[in-house]
Amino acid sequence: MIHLLSRLPAGARVLDLGAAAGSFPDVRPGVLVVRLDLKFDPGGAAGCLVRGDAARLPFANGVFDLLVSNHSLEHFVELEAVVREMGRVARPGAGLYVAVPDAGTLTDRIYRWIGRGGGHVNPFRKPAEVIVPIERLTGLSHRATRDLYSSLSFLNNHNVRGWGPKKLLLFARGDERFLAVLLWSLRTVDRVFGSGWSRYGWEFHFGAADPGEARDPWVNVCVRCGAGHSEEYLREQASGWRKFGPVESYRCPACGGFNLFSAEPVRRTRRTQP
Ligand SMILES: [Zn+2]
Repeated sequence: MIHLLSRLPAGARVLDLGAAAGSFPDVRPGVLVVRLDLKFDPGGAAGCLVRGDAARLPFANGVFDLLVSNHSLEHFVELEAVVREMGRVARPGAGLYVAVPDAGTLTDRIYRWIGRGGGHVNPFRKPAEVIVPIERLTGLSHRATRDLYSSLSFLNNHNVRGWGPKKLLLFARGDERFLAVLLWSLRTVDRVFGSGWSRYGWEFHFGAADPGEARDPWVNVCVRCGAGHSEEYLREQASGWRKFGPVESYRCPACGGFNLFSAEPVRRTRRTQP
């Protein structure tokens, strides 16, 4: 959602809902980012942290220009109340960005299996299960839906302290190169057979949150940091390109993680005309 933050005018206010350690970095001075969660890890998020319940937001009506729920809606027990509150604190003409896992995907099933549910209480299986209640309860119109692809970063031993759960043994103890090969294999199967093994979930734009010229889908999602990049960006910015026959590897420009490159499929963004 960096493209949304970069377009905000000076003085704009952003609510990062269920942010925990912050679901995105502070990208520009002059924009106030308020991060709300029930608790914060020590030494985690920076900026304006508010400890509070998303179903009872401690803010006045219509004060935020952009609301971000980046992989948090699946965790809220009082989902309808949370969405209604999002609509209440959004100013007229605000934008809303939402990203959630698709509970029917292989990645989300592995995540919940490894994490004994992973704290997910709202299993979304179709985009309409997100779009319809948000439009109804916030009054913000749906603009676009984009598929998100898996990173498997939650299995990567760069991100798991110690040895992690014993279940990680099935994934070569989270070895980055093993996971990179696994991801590349899933994406290759998808490209050949039209399956969805490498898909993870969706992101949605509502109201003034214009998806703009962001190219999609970004299948090349880093196996270490989870950042998605376009082929164009990777060709310019990624380092360490190597060829293994028909397969190319590169180092993520954001974190240096080892990744195998996959060709991008056709454009699949589904836009709703305003
Ligand atoms: Zn990375």
